[in-house]
Amino acid sequence: MRHPSTTSDDDSDALFGLDALGPGPAGPDTRGRPSFRDSDTARRLLPVREIHAEPAAAASPRGRQIIARFPEARVVEVASHWRIPGLHGNEGNIARWVRVKGETLVLGERKSPRTRPNGRSADWIAPGASNGCAMACAYCYVPRRKGYANPVTVFTNIDRIIGHIGRHIARQGPKTEPNQCDPEAWVYDIGENGDCSVDALICDNTADLVHAFRQWPTAKASFATKFVNPDLLALDPRGRTRVRFSVMPPEDSRLLDVRTSPVAERIAAAADFLDAGYEVHFNLSPVVVRPGWEEAWGELLDRLDDVLPARVKRQAAAEVIMLTHNRELHEVNLGWHPRAEEVLWRPDLQESKVSENGALNVRYAGAAKARAVERLRAMVAARAPWLTVRYAF
Ligand code: SF4
Repeated sequence: MRHPSTTSDDDSDALFGLDALGPGPAGPDTRGRPSFRDSDTARRLLPVREIHAEPAAAASPRGRQIIARFPEARVVEVASHWRIPGLHGNEGNIARWVRVKGETLVLGERKSPRTRPNGRSADWIAPGASNGCAMACAYCYVPRRKGYANPVTVFTNIDRIIGHIGRHIARQGPKTEPNQCDPEAWVYDIGENGDCSVDALICDNTADLVHAFRQWPTAKASFATKFVNPDLLALDPRGRTRVRFSVMPPEDSRLLDVRTSPVAERIAAAADFLDAGYEVHFNLSPVVVRPGWEEAWGELLDRLDDVLPARVKRQAAAEVIMLTHNRELHEVNLGWHPRAEEVLWRPDLQESKVSENGALNVRYAGAAKARAVERLRAMVAARAPWLTVRYAF
């Protein structure tokens, strides 16, 4: 499938769709329920004590909202959200890895929003409204650019990010050929470097993006998540946002998905999200090859088949993503979660490749990977035949 080349942002264009921004999920939702993000559960996940903020980000309306949400937090001015001494980089942070993710936030501005072509999960990777995550999955590549022990950075200039995406969508025109991303809409991944459901515990960036996309009939937002945030049910996405619940066998998830919602909760939420106006897909990911993996995935597929109502199955599709790992992350994990590495780091099965930035990445070696992908596809076809596999790699 040919993609139009990514074009640079042009601030002289009229902002496209910004008038669509509605109220976010702060305060009670439209059904009068208190926000989940004000609950004790949410506060336990994000007991923010320190906010590192660029001055302009702290002074912005979004920045002020966030600082007001965490009145106990100490605000520390930083010149840039990149390379904050003592916070970024792995040195000294490994022992307090999980605490840093919950107790610290960074506020910055996205200086030059860019959209990149993708073609696998989405047509385009949109400039995210955050990077980093408050959860701590042992295989997560998201924090790689700031050192693996980094917390969420929220970009406070959400209006600029949305304006950029709107102009990009306008330039594409309608999608004329169906592809694996979507038959009709240009799909924009809005959560490449974080988890939008967790971001929605912090501020209204996710709500603003969901609201913006409902005004764009040729496009659709998409994000993967491992966290069930009931506040998202109140956003009225009108079918223009695809939520991809990531699932894996619960025993793998308990070992590897640190701080996330249990897999059973993610599966149980699918119907609620569909009924609230989302498209609901699944990421079968990452697939970790370990003794017994086939039985475990078979049971998971049986569970999806048993539990999901027909209306979820009718519109569901899945991505299958085999584990990739990284030497640097392996070494970090040995410092805080060595049991995870017993299944993630498998030199007997994996081959390595030096990436463009010099990092040593590992993935299951060619033939073994092809066999595993084939096996999983066959299991999906046999046990959850309603689940279209959009792609597997
Ligand atoms: S939820 Fe996603 S972004 Fe967050 S730590 Fe896990 S894999 Fe990374």
